[in-house]
Amino acid sequence: MDNLIKNWQKRNISGLFVKSKDQAVKKILEIIPSSASVGISGSVTLDQLGIVKLLESRGNKVFNQYKSGISREESLKLRKQGAQADYYLTSANALSREGELVFFSGYGHRIAGIANAGKVIVVCGINKITPNIEEALKRSREYATPLNCKRLDWVTPCFKDGICRKDVCLFPEYKRMCCQILTIEAEVAPDRLKVIMIDEKLGF
Ligand code: SF4
Repeated sequence: MDNLIKNWQKRNISGLFVKSKDQAVKKILEIIPSSASVGISGSVTLDQLGIVKLLESRGNKVFNQYKSGISREESLKLRKQGAQADYYLTSANALSREGELVFFSGYGHRIAGIANAGKVIVVCGINKITPNIEEALKRSREYATPLNCKRLDWVTPCFKDGICRKDVCLFPEYKRMCCQILTIEAEVAPDRLKVIMIDEKLGF
């Protein structure tokens, strides 16, 4: 883990290793001021942390596009506002031991949040670490995306059997989920991008 944190330092990314979900939650609440606005991406890891409710209950303005009962238009508006918030909270699909972070996205809202928010916190379980960038991309496409298609009911070739067939995963037959892919190799602005690594298996 020390090597990974050093590799991030060279990329202007600050890495933090914590033992448990509870410690991660504590850290996030320490880092984000209660006056800050927060954008979020859809993420099983964030759900497992229960962080959105905690931020909301202590007074943070969270642009929560998953609030129940809101319209599609309201949800889209919140995604756009979230992408320009003071902080953006998300998880990666995979990361390499060398320090690259990989994010796959359907509509690109998460990519917009990572690019535009004031500061970005990426929260990941250790199960998302891969030996190199090639394996990180492979994990994202061949493992994480099929599970996300299943979770979100996206009709894609991988939806049924978990096998990616990207050559035929095209419209109108399929609603492809792997539309936009972001690899972060480094961050220009100092102290803007943080990764909190949790010593647990979280998300997928
Ligand atoms: S390209 Fe299509 S089939 Fe392949 S993982 Fe992405 S959504 Fe699934």
